[in-house]
Amino acid sequence: MKVKVSVDQDSCTGCGICYSDLPEVYEDDGDGISQVLESLGGDGAVIEGDLAEKAMELKDECPAEALVTEEV
Ligand code: SF4
Repeated sequence: MKVKVSVDQDSCTGCGICYSDLPEVYEDDGDGISQVLESLGGDGAVIEGDLAEKAMELKDECPAEALVTEEV
């Protein structure tokens, strides 16, 4: 499975769940707001394998529904 990941930064409240639970994909942008790791390619990066599965599961944990995942 391959998944395209991004963060709706306008909706993100900076709770930290995603970048605490899955730091291999998400990071603090410096203001507490989540972003996809720049080292992965940033917003719209495509990930696969275990990381893709974890990202799909984590999506439902975001209280702001700001994690966007799309199977590609
Ligand atoms: S879980 Fe959602 S609200 Fe919390 S930091 Fe991540 S994107 Fe933002």
